[in-house]
Amino acid sequence: MSARILVVDDVPANVKLLEARLSAEYFDVMTASNGTEALAICRRAECDIILLDVMMPDIDGYEVCRRLKSDPATHHIPVVMVTALDSPADRNRGLEAGADDFLTKPVSDVVLIARVRSLTRLKMMTDELRMRAITSIEIGMQAPERSAVADTGKGGRILLVDDRESSYERLATLLAAEHTVDVEPNPTEALFHAAEGNYDLLIVSLDLNNFDGLRLCSQARSLERTRHVPILAIADPENSTRLLRGLEIGVNDYLLRPIDKNELLARARTQIRRRRYTDHLRDNVQNSIEMAITDALTGLHNRRYMESHLATLAEQASIRGKPLALMILDIDYFKSINDSYGHDAGDDVLREFAVRVRKSIRGIDLACRYGGEEFVIVMPETDLHVAGMVAERLRRSIAGEPFAIHKGTKRIEVTISIGLTTLEQKGEAVADVLKRADTALYRAKHDGRNRVVSQAA
Ligand code: GH3
Ligand code: MG
Ligand code: MG
Repeated sequence: MSARILVVDDVPANVKLLEARLSAEYFDVMTASNGTEALAICRRAECDIILLDVMMPDIDGYEVCRRLKSDPATHHIPVVMVTALDSPADRNRGLEAGADDFLTKPVSDVVLIARVRSLTRLKMMTDELRMRAITSIEIGMQAPERSAVADTGKGGRILLVDDRESSYERLATLLAAEHTVDVEPNPTEALFHAAEGNYDLLIVSLDLNNFDGLRLCSQARSLERTRHVPILAIADPENSTRLLRGLEIGVNDYLLRPIDKNELLARARTQIRRRRYTDHLRDNVQNSIEMAITDALTGLHNRRYMESHLATLAEQASIRGKPLALMILDIDYFKSINDSYGHDAGDDVLREFAVRVRKSIRGIDLACRYGGEEFVIVMPETDLHVAGMVAERLRRSIAGEPFAIHKGTKRIEVTISIGLTTLEQKGEAVADVLKRADTALYRAKHDGRNRVVSQAA
């Protein structure tokens, strides 16, 4: 993992210092001596993280940060402000500008490396998702960058895990100004609570009585339901070494007590905004995967998916010496259903047909819409005899119960014909299997429809 860190500072000595420390930890370091140069490098997507000096002659660090965060091309790059100014007001100016974190000059080595490591991990994950989501944008889904840039980070759902009443009462009141807050004073319940609550942010106190808050953080990271929920840790200053450990195990950000109101709110907003952005990316990826392999009308797999997956299934069957059955189903006189009742009625029949198919097959069977009113079902580890019974059951489930059309006001009889076969021998081409099933289907049609014809290999 060799992240590229951009160090921006107008004082050459400061640049050299950070460069040396980061290089010693095997990070790739790039440098810039002013804001204009830094913005150009970021727009060319050449760096993963920016360490940004606040006081610079041309454009100051706050303004550079603001511009990065409002540009869809650069808003996802983590920005760490490096500043000699450390009053709450200065920090809040940076957080308002969208900074992800702060380092105070002189910068401590341990803190520097811990922060950069944790932000690197986050950036890598986001990049991976962005790359995959580009495909979804190409096929017409909304680019998440737009809504991310506009997101205020308010209106989140927060779970606060803290067992000190005076502490959680104050924090909950502060956070409630912008978010919905649930408090969980019992740390042993917290993980369940977090997994069930669909939260945008977990805030975890590390100063719990008789309970290790870090263990909770690490459990939240390994649990599927909570893996992607950001964690903001809170600790007393004497617990600050544990915070560094926290960053290593996946805590996203932290605050030291006494908690400054504005800083708490700003850090919560940053985490929530990022959470929504990555969720959006993840949804896009998921949707595009589903769209690429699913038939929109019936929700079954499409032909493209079937053809590529069938090859895999046939190969597995050959290797393991197991049978593999395949059937082609075709709705009888479907054209006349369209002609008599309209195209929408035809679509209703196709949808209901898919529902009945799904009910008749096992989870490991692969059902797909092969063409207009033609479907293919592939059944692993199934011989011709058993497949014949499944096909017959399927045929009866269609013919035995009329189909509702015209919003349920009318019911019509539908029948199907099925051609069935199995994989003949090791390594037989799937095209040949499909062809044999198609020949059987042709015979079923020819012999009077509403029937199953099996063709042994
Ligand atoms: P056969 O019993 O020989 O299979 O006769 P058929 O009428 O079912 O077969 P044919 O292949 O002549 O007609 C299929 C029809 O399916 C023609 C086409 O307009 C219709 N069709 C294809 N896709 C769709 C669709 O998505 N929706 C609807 N409503 N009709 C479709
Ligand atoms: Mg037909
Ligand atoms: Mg047809």
